Formats: sequence, C-alpha cells, structure tokens
Amino acid sequence: MDFNLNHLLNFPYVTILSCQQQEGLVILKLEFLNEGISCPHCKTYTDNLHQIRPILVRDLSILGQPVYLKVPRRLSWSVKLAP
Ligand SMILES: [Zn+2]
Repeated sequence: MDFNLNHLLNFPYVTILSCQQQEGLVILKLEFLNEGISCPHCKTYTDNLHQIRPILVRDLSILGQPVYLKVPRRLSWSVKLAP
C-alpha cells in the first residue's frame, strides 16, 4: 500500500519531517518548503525570517490516537512593518 502522510495532510509548501509516537500520541513534525511568505497586511513577499516558534496544534486522530502537528511557526517582518 502506498501510504503518504504528506498527501493526506495536503498542506501547501509543507512536508512532514518526522513522525513520533509517544505515550499514546502521534506527533507530526512539519517543515515549510518555501523560503518566505507574503505579508498578510501589505502582501509584500519576504524571506527575512525573524524567528521560529514551534507550536503544537491538535489535529484529527489517526487510528484512534490523538495527533498533534508540531508547526514551526515563522515570524517575519515585511519591509513596511519592520521596526
Ligand atoms: Zn507587510
């Protein structure tokens, strides 16, 4: 059976870096494939990464086990919003 979690997750520009099973939980560690993002305010594209703050987000269960997505939340400042 060809089983690809990336295909099931179906997030654009995101891949699953690792899959850990611990204490009845499944943790999928995600990685972004794109270098930068467009600012949600002014739409300017930037790859000027300020910091990464990983967060755990509860997702739908897999095979009856709770699933958490470890998302490397990226914080960037566009040129217009930079302090
Ligand atoms: Zn902006």
